[in-house]
Amino acid sequence: MEEFDNDDDVNEQEPHNNDIDTDAIESAVKSMLRAFGEDPDREGLKNTPKRVARMYPELLSGYRTDSKKLVNGALFTVDYDDMVIVRDIEFYSLCEHHMLPFIGRAHVAYIPRGQVLGLSKIPRIVDMYSRRLQVQERMTRQVADFINDLLKPQGVAVVVEALHMCSMMRGVRKHDARMTTSTMLGSFRSKIATREEFLDNISRGAGPLKI
Ligand code: ZN
Repeated sequence: MEEFDNDDDVNEQEPHNNDIDTDAIESAVKSMLRAFGEDPDREGLKNTPKRVARMYPELLSGYRTDSKKLVNGALFTVDYDDMVIVRDIEFYSLCEHHMLPFIGRAHVAYIPRGQVLGLSKIPRIVDMYSRRLQVQERMTRQVADFINDLLKPQGVAVVVEALHMCSMMRGVRKHDARMTTSTMLGSFRSKIATREEFLDNISRGAGPLKI
């Protein structure tokens, strides 16, 4: 998590539409087990390459999420312009530097301009971007941009808090390696009162992140 030097390529991550090559993962995992000095044929490890290969399509399913299908039928025209907040959205992602998990919560808000999105869709948008190889900053930005492009609202705010296994398990071993990132667009960026209303709301009753 120390290697965030590529903040500029926020939107360069192209979705991969091709299916994941599970055979290639299986043989790669077998090679890794050998490289660790393990015996990939011993009983406990015999099925590990296959299991790991079957796991990745789920962990990385966000690449293949059809964003049009995701929001299909969930856009509603309303005469409502108060803040919509969905907080404490649990997510699980993999950092692209180490392929280790980072897990946490996302808080999303927007102020509509004539259109709202069904509430259950917001966690699915978070899933679409978290279930990829990610960096937390980019994921935060992508969720905000997606909602901004879709609804053209008055403003969008996304705050993500996460614990990174790559800094907890290795290197400096910080056990409270919580990182917070945020993206504020439109009125959340230009109006301090709007931003504060959102930040107050998400800090209320929030416990520390735990594993
Ligand atoms: Zn990492």
